[in-house]
Amino acid sequence: VTDATHEVERQPKLAERIAQQVEQEIIEAGWPVGAPLGSEAILAKRYGVSRAIMREAARLLEHHVAATTRRGVGGGLIVARPDLRAVLPAISLCLDFEGVSPGTLLEARSAIELAAVELAAERITDAGKQRLQTALDFEGTELSDPHKYLSSHDLHILIADLSGNPALRLFVAILTRLTSAHAQTRFSEVEHTEAEAIGREIADAHASIVKAIVKGNVGIARKCMRSHLEAIAPWLT
Ligand SMILES: [Zn+2]
Repeated sequence: VTDATHEVERQPKLAERIAQQVEQEIIEAGWPVGAPLGSEAILAKRYGVSRAIMREAARLLEHHVAATTRRGVGGGLIVARPDLRAVLPAISLCLDFEGVSPGTLLEARSAIELAAVELAAERITDAGKQRLQTALDFEGTELSDPHKYLSSHDLHILIADLSGNPALRLFVAILTRLTSAHAQTRFSEVEHTEAEAIGREIADAHASIVKAIVKGNVGIARKCMRSHLEAIAPWLT
């Protein structure tokens, strides 16, 4: 065990503080994805810490998907685009630890999606209507591969995007992925013909939701979304 390793073990808080400081600087710089932050040696000097501490801070930054390491000459840390995949496993573990059942998770998803669909119907624009139509057309082509289709949530995320609230979009993206993980096992077990029938049902439900949003009919949009999500409940394991 080298002295450097001891230092990391003694001062985990310091590396965390440096990582937070770098993250704050990335935020203040307006999150310039791809911009170089500097090599380990340069960063260690700049923050007045040992290279071992800086390496630990870099590991944390990579773990948070705030930065990635570019290897080779002129390499070092570069600003990364944050990724949901970085947080999903941690959220999933927290929910599991709290004993959250798939049904309870769906309840949370419904609350968020109903809020999103309501805002989407209120705020729909011509460009938004076009995006919804394009998404529905694309889904039509995906129905030929029903198992793939059943695991797609693009329309839900698009609707959340049309709410104009990026936080809602993020939470919908998280909750659709988490609930679909619970439905995946049963969906993968159904025969092709049954999967096709379920696919058609989902496509019809999506078409009704889109129609209501396009008309700006908040009440109908909520009602269609609620019954669509209720239909998912029996599939969750
Ligand atoms: Zn759906």
